[in-house]
Amino acid sequence: MYHPALAAYDFGEGHPFSGERFTRFMAAIEGYPDILSRLTVTEPSPAGDDLIGLAHSLSYIEMVRALERRSGYLSVDTRVMPGSVEAARMIVGASVGAVTAARRHGLALSFGGLHHAGRDYGEGFCIFNDVAVAALHLLQSGIERVMVIDTDAHQGNGTMDIFYEDPRVLFVSLHQDPMTLYPGTGFVTQVGKGEGKGFTVNVPMPVRAGDSEFRIAIREIVIPLIDRFSPRLIIRNGGSDPLKDDILTDLGLSLDGLSLMTGTIAAAARDRGIPLADLFLSGYGSRITEGWLAIVRGTLGLPIDIALPDGREYGNRWNADSIRDAMLRTLEQLKRELRPYWGDL
Ligand SMILES: [Zn+2]
Repeated sequence: MYHPALAAYDFGEGHPFSGERFTRFMAAIEGYPDILSRLTVTEPSPAGDDLIGLAHSLSYIEMVRALERRSGYLSVDTRVMPGSVEAARMIVGASVGAVTAARRHGLALSFGGLHHAGRDYGEGFCIFNDVAVAALHLLQSGIERVMVIDTDAHQGNGTMDIFYEDPRVLFVSLHQDPMTLYPGTGFVTQVGKGEGKGFTVNVPMPVRAGDSEFRIAIREIVIPLIDRFSPRLIIRNGGSDPLKDDILTDLGLSLDGLSLMTGTIAAAARDRGIPLADLFLSGYGSRITEGWLAIVRGTLGLPIDIALPDGREYGNRWNADSIRDAMLRTLEQLKRELRPYWGDL
């Protein structure tokens, strides 16, 4: 799903989230015939209040509209400027379009993942939560179980809040240790509430966690949960910010590791006949396009083969035993938390 109007999702001069990322990426894939031959580019349409109202209160939508008129701030890092709301509606429309296309074709890709917006709040560069809207739209269409796999470096607090008491959506998030990064949520003990207990799963990754730590987390938590929950559709969201080059985060994924991660999730979905909507738009610094290419190549099952002007770096330059040990301790603790709901993972 792509529309040139996405470029209006931009927070202004000097902000790490600029809207040119979308046009730059679309220009870059022109250089990769093996990607292009696998894709049909479809234009989404902006989501109206009926769709956005699935995840957000009408008073919040009204408040955002009023803020836009005076270029006000939703939070210290998230300014709503004229045009922002229409662009956010386009992102939501694209993600809803992606889950619809995934149901038909098995796989769809879009620019989405505004996971820091909750029912009555927006922050962290996120105005409307497209992931939550897309999942709620599926539930409304009679799809019973939706799994959200959030691999963004920042924990998806908005998505978590919206589904915290909802057993229809299994929300699994791999993110940098919340003690060390915004939004400061996503501990292993946050497992949901009421009916939703067990349907929120947080995997905090140690600072500098790299390819092997992500591989272990996917293998030991994410894949077994796909089998236990047996979702009717999977939404993966998250862009290039777990890369070690990202300027806002402190994780250690290489491009190969990022590609392997999305590829492993896509292959698991494909092997089980589960449709997958793959959404990405985050990433900060100079490696956004390459990171997104790695994501898409992984998801499409293509070998990672990306031309980089400044050469490639393989593996994880830290790769210390202490990082691995911290990861294993976290997984042990998480499995203990999850045992009452999912048995032995
Ligand atoms: Zn992020």
